[in-house]
Amino acid sequence: MNAYLDHNATSPIRPEAAEAMRAALEAGGNPSSVHAAGRAARATVERARAAVARFVNARTEDVIFTAGGTEADNLAVHSAKAAGARRIAVSAIEHEAVAEAAAASRLEVIVWPVTAAGTVDLNWLDSHLKTKSEGAGTKTLFALMAANNETGVIQPIADAGRMICEAGGLFLVDAVQMPGKAAFNFADAGAHYAALSAHKVGGPLGAGALVASPDAPVTRLIHGGGQEKNRRSGTENGPAIAGFAAALDTAASDEDLFARQRALRDRIETRLRASAPDIAIWGADAERLPNTICLSAPGWPSEVQVIAMDLNGFAVSAGAACSSGKVRRSRALDAMGAGAGHAEAALRVSVGWNTTQTQADAFADAWLNEYERARPKARAAV
Ligand code: PLP
Repeated sequence: MNAYLDHNATSPIRPEAAEAMRAALEAGGNPSSVHAAGRAARATVERARAAVARFVNARTEDVIFTAGGTEADNLAVHSAKAAGARRIAVSAIEHEAVAEAAAASRLEVIVWPVTAAGTVDLNWLDSHLKTKSEGAGTKTLFALMAANNETGVIQPIADAGRMICEAGGLFLVDAVQMPGKAAFNFADAGAHYAALSAHKVGGPLGAGALVASPDAPVTRLIHGGGQEKNRRSGTENGPAIAGFAAALDTAASDEDLFARQRALRDRIETRLRASAPDIAIWGADAERLPNTICLSAPGWPSEVQVIAMDLNGFAVSAGAACSSGKVRRSRALDAMGAGAGHAEAALRVSVGWNTTQTQADAFADAWLNEYERARPKARAAV
């Protein structure tokens, strides 16, 4: 039995998205051309823009298409800096797309801590906002992901957004992991910016969007032809954008999508907990994405688990996907203060729109089998 259980890294393309892409590829056209083919391509892009806006409850004109979540996060950081932000407060569990963009920005970077439960510390935010003023020339961009890619823990973005806006700061929400797993409402988040990515919701790789509120400064990062109302140059990737919108529309009409994933996730977790009581499941006490399990089996290194599962036909990952293909210790578990032996023994299992119960059960069987074999060595290692 083979199963792809790494939907937080990328989710397989939805057939509806592939079909929309095929149609747009065949139709061709540059959305900036004035002739009929160009106008048709423009109509496809604008229909997709409206679909993305509808999905996250934003204004259509506030959606800027990008080449993915990483570019969207970078555009937000760049724009805040260009508008005079002095500091960037980055949650300790942010994805590299935000953390590295912040480090490269040369703004003062402050780490916004998280609690042991995996949620960001709102008391820290409260005292930070009381001690540092958010006036002209002293503005901070606060960056908090809507849900963590490793643990799935959902962050208190509405509360944080209210506090940040009242103080006059700027707020970036990396919402890349939300679509298809949990509701994300841009208007309710109180965010200036939100980053989205197509491939996490069954759309293509290399497409995404930055949603920017009407009062959010946007300064282009990529210079050129002035597309996207001069906020992001480069000919829009119409087929990928059409696939992105089709994936969102399909997810929105997949009525029991969240419940289906939750049932499969809970089924796996219940089996593993019952037969492997010495594992830890991270973020389980907080509100979590319904599809994500972040477990650690001390003494059984992440990379050994990933390879063992791969040999059994199951695609899972250690903590987070890493561009080098290497497995590294979990940043989220480190930030949560997981303690010795956990961050390097973490495994992330993320089910998705096409996961079946048979696959979930087969994964649990295979993992428990391998765990039994690894247990004596693992015990000796801790
Ligand atoms: N932000 C989060 C939370 C992610 O999980 C990812 C992808 O892993 C990204 C940003 C980057 O998105 P993309 O792969 O579209 O560049």
